[in-house]
Formats: sequence, C-alpha cells, structure tokens
Amino acid sequence: MGRGWEGMALRMMRGRDFEFTVTGAEDVTAHCRRLSFADGGMLGATGVHPTMWVRLWFPDAGRPHQRAYTLVDPDPAGGAFGIDFALHDGPASRWASTAGVGDTIQATVQGSAFAAPDPTPARMFLVGDRASAPAIGSLLRALPDVPATVWLETQHGSDEHLPLARTGRDHHDLRFVPRENAGARLAAQVRTALPDLLGDPAEAYVWIACDTATTRDLARFVRRDLDVPKPRTHALGYWRP
Ligand SMILES: Cc1cc2nc3c(=O)[nH]c(=O)nc-3n(C[C@H](O)[C@H](O)[C@H](O)COP(=O)(O)OP(=O)(O)OC[C@H]3O[C@@H](n4cnc5c(N)ncnc54)[C@H](O)[C@@H]3O)c2cc1C
Repeated sequence: MGRGWEGMALRMMRGRDFEFTVTGAEDVTAHCRRLSFADGGMLGATGVHPTMWVRLWFPDAGRPHQRAYTLVDPDPAGGAFGIDFALHDGPASRWASTAGVGDTIQATVQGSAFAAPDPTPARMFLVGDRASAPAIGSLLRALPDVPATVWLETQHGSDEHLPLARTGRDHHDLRFVPRENAGARLAAQVRTALPDLLGDPAEAYVWIACDTATTRDLARFVRRDLDVPKPRTHALGYWRP
C-alpha cells in the first residue's frame, strides 16, 4: 500500500520506519483501549523522551492514513511500549478497537522531540484531554517533584479514570472539565484560573495539547496576555473536531 505524498515528505525528512506487533490488549476505560507492542527495534534505535510519539499508518478503504500516537511506559531494554487509544469514530480508532495479539502496524518516527524546561519550572500547567493524557502522564513522571495543575477535558465520565488521574501526589492538582461548546468551557476555565496560579511567568512551564482550535486559543492567551516566554510553553493541537 503506497503512502502517497505524506510518505514521500517523511522520507525526505529522514523519518525512520519500523513495524510494531501487538502483544496485548486491555480496556483502560469504556472509551480508551491500551494495546501493548513489541517495538521492532525502534526504542534501541531512537532512544526515549517524555511525550514521545510515533506516526502509525492505519489502513482504511485500501489507503494508509497516518495518525500520531504517544508511547506509554516505553521499555528500551524489553523493546516494548503501550499506546492508549481514545475510542471514537475514525480509521485509527477502529483499528485499535479490534486489533489483537499478533497484528502488526507500520510506523514512522519523525518529528517527536522534547526540550526539558531549563531551569526546572517552579510550577507546571498542563492542559489536555483523553488524546494527550498519556503525554501528560509522562510529563508528570519526568518532573515528579514539580507542583502541577492539570486541566483535563472530559468527553465521557470514564475519562476521570484514565491512568494519569492516579498519580497519588498531593502537589498534582487535577481538574476535570466536561467538554462543552467545542472546547470553550475548557478555555474559559483556564483563562479564569491561570493568571492567579501562574506566579513568575519565566519560572512556569505551560504545556497545551487539546483540539487544534482550543490549543491555538490558549497558546495565544498564555504567550500574549500572560507573557509566558515561548521557551517556557509548548502547544500542539492533537486532533481536529
Ligand atoms: C503528537 C500527538 C500525539 C497523540 N497521541 C495520542 C494518543 O496517545 N492517544 C490518542 O488517542 N490520540 C492521540 N493523538 C490524537 C490522534 O492522533 C487523533 O485523535 C487522530 O485524529 C485519531 O485518528 P482517527 O483515524 O481515529 O480519527 P480521524 O479520522 O482523525 O477523525 C474521525 C472523527 O473522530 C473525531 N476525533 C478524532 N480524534 C478525536 C479525539 N481525540 N476525541 C474525540 N473525537 C476525535 C474527529 O473529529 C472526526 O470527527 C495524538 C495526536 C498528536 C498530534
């Protein structure tokens, strides 16, 4: 199956290709399914960083579709990792909901990077949803001693039971916000609360990954209205409504 212009562009950007094999499957919640994978040699070749993601090629109507997914608990020594798939309607989600042990999927590694905030932030502010929950979890684990406020937009009640909700640390303040008006409720809550929590903008770290429009809106607010320096922010839209 040819990958079209996306595949050509990734080859030009030196994307590296691997094949992953499903080794296990488990329902994390009613709307999130974790698949475990053997990494086909990827982790040894690429190394690992917080929020690390890969491009997977999902078959749909005879064509491959590329979608980004975040590694959960990557284990370079064992050549293994998991992926938590949010379940909705789409080629990636459909593939994940029926995939079983022994199934394989093609992957390209290109574009994932993480620059650890330096100096270590006095406080982190993380805004996301089911799709970015694995990345948020990896950030909380990478900087375990940094106090963090997390706004997690929920589309289902079960989103409150995603693994990141169970960090067990008192200095992780997790705030659930039901999705309303295409993300407007989440944006309003962050806009209202963040100015009082922020402290010195240069000592904060603000990480935003929800739907593309809400991400753009909040990134502009944080950088322009709250004067958080760009290197102390990260914003990437994770999905399009
Ligand atoms: C860097 C990065 C890392 C990501 N990591 C993960 C991850 O670990 N786990 C994960 O689940 N997703 C993750 N995502 C998001 C995922 O790539 C998108 O949700 C993708 O669109 C899903 O593809 P699909 O083929 O299932 O649906 P699509 O064909 O893209 O969309 C089909 C329909 O589903 C809707 N839809 C798509 N995504 C969502 C969503 N998240 N919630 C609600 N409705 C949606 C669309 O609006 C559309 O109506 C990541 C995205 C990025 C950019």
